[in-house]
Amino acid sequence: MKNKKFKEIISVAILTVLIVSTLAAAFFTNRAKPYSESFLAMGTTFSTEVYGRNGKEVAALLKSMVTDVDLNLLSRTSTASKISELGRNKSAELPNEIIELIKTVQEISADSGGAVDITVGEITDLWQIGTSEAAIPDKAEIQKALSAVDYRKLKISGNTVTVGNGQTVDLGAVGKGYACDAAAKILSEHNAKACVFSAGGSILLYGKNPADELWQVAIRDPRGSASDVFAVFKTEAGFVSTSGDYERFFEKDGKSYHHIIDPKSGYPADSGIISVTVIADSGAVSDALSTACFVLGYEKSLPLLEKYNAQAIFVTKDKTVLATDEIRNKTELTNSDYHFAG
Ligand code: ADP
Ligand code: MG
Repeated sequence: MKNKKFKEIISVAILTVLIVSTLAAAFFTNRAKPYSESFLAMGTTFSTEVYGRNGKEVAALLKSMVTDVDLNLLSRTSTASKISELGRNKSAELPNEIIELIKTVQEISADSGGAVDITVGEITDLWQIGTSEAAIPDKAEIQKALSAVDYRKLKISGNTVTVGNGQTVDLGAVGKGYACDAAAKILSEHNAKACVFSAGGSILLYGKNPADELWQVAIRDPRGSASDVFAVFKTEAGFVSTSGDYERFFEKDGKSYHHIIDPKSGYPADSGIISVTVIADSGAVSDALSTACFVLGYEKSLPLLEKYNAQAIFVTKDKTVLATDEIRNKTELTNSDYHFAG
């Protein structure tokens, strides 16, 4: 009993330390010490904690995988990347794993009525949210860009992807989740024992928590600072992604404009949700679903979550928390400003 309480106190202390550098952070009471490192890529902070004797070696492989995925595959700014080649030539031959990624998102686009749509690039280019150039575009510009947004016009034939007229592909909604999938593959190939791989708002919890307990994940308070948490939930190994309106935004005339776009309107999504965390058994799926659920709102997301066997925790503007059944029982609200619905 005494021992258990001691453990819990340690947990909280570790959580407080970890969440300083991550958006949704995982923590644990550990016996073995992991090999830990952090680095910047894809416009965010990555951190890896790898357990087992080969922790350092595996962490180095994870880091070089992320650099490679960023520079050579998904980046829209690196001219060497496959996605920028697709931008220039409107058609490109992509490696199998990126074809699989795009097919997965295309399916979720179809299942969500286009709430997540990787052809939203012309719109995200107009807004430039997250850069110093961020500004409200003219309505006419938005209308023009919107006419190019439609995931159904992007064609895949074998390994060749061809975009529709005027389309630009933006894999920002799924890149970090994809990196979590690629990390899981490396960890399994190298027989890693356990790992927390954190890629901005997406996390891979691999293997068993070395303390033989469930992993505990803290979710950032969407209205607090980067180190504030509003809830903690327990989960087995898997993938967790959070989409929130606080992550990238700018303010103009007292109004806030965030980076998750409703592909129907071309404006920041306004479903009443300010943060949604999705737990799924693939990183690409958890990341694509978190964006889709943010756009759809709670009610409309439920069939989508069910189809992908995923769980989710939503937060509304008035700090009401709505969660799917399974995860609701494993979630504790740690900030009294927040309350469960009902
Ligand atoms: P983050 O990348 O901050 O973790 P998300 O996973 O929700 O958050 O992805 C948001 C990013 O995806 C945006 O920065 C933009 O590049 C792109 N994006 C925005 N809205 C959509 C959308 N509806 N569908 C697909 N991609 C989107
Ligand atoms: Mg996402």
